[in-house]
Amino acid sequence: MASRMLKFVNVQRQMPDKRGVEARAHDFDEIYGEFAPQDAAEQSARCSQCGVPFCQVHCPVHNNIPDWLLLTAEGRLEEAYEVSQATNNFPEICGRICPQDRLCEGNCVIEQSGHGTVTIGAVEKFINDNAWEQGWVKPVKPLRERVESVGIVGAGPGGLACAEQLRKQGFQVTVYDRYDRMGGLMIYGIPNFKLEKEVVERRTRLLADAGVEYVTQCEVGRDVGLQELRERHAALLLATGVYKARDIKLPGVGLDNVYPALDFLVASNRKGLGDVVPAYEDGTLNAEGKDVVVIGGGDTAMDCVRTAVRQGARSVKCLYRRNRQNMPGSQREVANAEEEGVEFVWLAAPEAFDGDTAVSRVRAQRVHLGVPDATGRQAPQILPDSSFELPADMVIKALGFDPEDLPVLFDCPELETTRWGTVKVRYPSLATSLEGVYAAGDIVRGASLVVWAIRDGRDAADSITRFLDEKATATATAAIAAD
Ligand code: FAD
Ligand code: SF4
Ligand code: SF4
Repeated sequence: MASRMLKFVNVQRQMPDKRGVEARAHDFDEIYGEFAPQDAAEQSARCSQCGVPFCQVHCPVHNNIPDWLLLTAEGRLEEAYEVSQATNNFPEICGRICPQDRLCEGNCVIEQSGHGTVTIGAVEKFINDNAWEQGWVKPVKPLRERVESVGIVGAGPGGLACAEQLRKQGFQVTVYDRYDRMGGLMIYGIPNFKLEKEVVERRTRLLADAGVEYVTQCEVGRDVGLQELRERHAALLLATGVYKARDIKLPGVGLDNVYPALDFLVASNRKGLGDVVPAYEDGTLNAEGKDVVVIGGGDTAMDCVRTAVRQGARSVKCLYRRNRQNMPGSQREVANAEEEGVEFVWLAAPEAFDGDTAVSRVRAQRVHLGVPDATGRQAPQILPDSSFELPADMVIKALGFDPEDLPVLFDCPELETTRWGTVKVRYPSLATSLEGVYAAGDIVRGASLVVWAIRDGRDAADSITRFLDEKATATATAAIAAD
């Protein structure tokens, strides 16, 4: 291997081409292109094939990164695909939207030594997009079918990763979702310019071809009870995500044109998917021609500001109470937003929303970051007499999400939750307080990442398999004893 690898000293880090601002700020297409095969090989060859690969350690699904980089550098792309898909159910999705700077790439030793990280995410995307093009991606075919059925509540990455892993074992799998499309936030939350919807839809079609049954527009707790599902299936997974938008209590927050982030993003994604969206058509959830102020500094806020730019907003500002270094959103996305014309108002907190019936401006105050608190983060402190105003005829609140009250929604007080409202599980099995019911993804972790939901879905599938194996063995043993 060695002669082909370790090229990081002479070969510069290079990302696939990014579309220019003029072109990309007016449409919802993805902004990054694809590596040409020779570029993917050259970039992969920068890897030093570490004995202890920190990239892999810090990848939540522990992708075998050095191996697929070596295979890509050698042009053995089908083998690279096989290695890549062995640990990740949605590798080309993670290659697009993982915050690599905080995970694999941020821990690459070449990055640490100042040479610029190996472009792991872009290579992962290349390997798997290429596999789709070549027809190597095939639906799972279990070696034998099993009679036990498993119900999965929620068709986001957690639920779908679990579904695919369970089909590999031959279980009969039914996924229930309250939406009309499968994919969870990958379909309705994350905008097309980060993750084109066809990339998600080809994966959900693949699972259907593998025999996973989908029940859409079925809200568990309303259209079917949790207890009924427990009786229908031998085991259940709860992967319902977190959807209760956090709010702020400020004067004027109830004015028209002040919206939660997900309402805005779902409308935009539905429009892009070809749905008729009355609240978009009548201008309510359309930023065209408006002065937009987005409040928050996470990835959801970044998605809102960049969506508003693409809808043709007159101005887009992002109000965040900390500074750039302390914001939770990916630095790559902040840089992209700045390039696209978003103005960041750092160290500023909203004070009130003014207007008659609809908002016309945001009053805000300057913030100073004080000494670190118990969590280690500097506490924001309002500076006296520092009020200022921003014109706004649309305000979007992107302040994070909390879990819905599942024990109440499911009419199941025995389902234990944590003090944050997330479902309480035992580790490492992810078993809940209900026998045969497991949980995965955001509903366990709180708002997190696609790759962590995949990891949980895979872990839960292993636990469910063990649970059903033990049950099958116990039944067989009892039958023999009764003979
Ligand atoms: P979800 O994806 O939320 O899926 C849960 C599913 O359960 C949904 O389809 C929902 O309809 C369904 N459901 C809920 N309740 C019920 C019920 N009672 N009955 C039936 N169905 C139900 N992560 C990244 O890694 N990179 C990013 O760039 C990124 N960007 C994001 C941008 C936005 C705007 C948001 C909101 C999140 C973003 N995330 C990102 C986070 C990521 O999307 C989530 O962490 C991930 O989708 C969680 O997966 P999940 O399977 O737990 O839940
Ligand atoms: Fe990096 Fe995410 Fe891929 Fe893991 S899954 S290698 S963290 S991009
Ligand atoms: Fe290669 Fe970087 Fe991973 Fe080391 S840490 S194996 S150099 S990608």
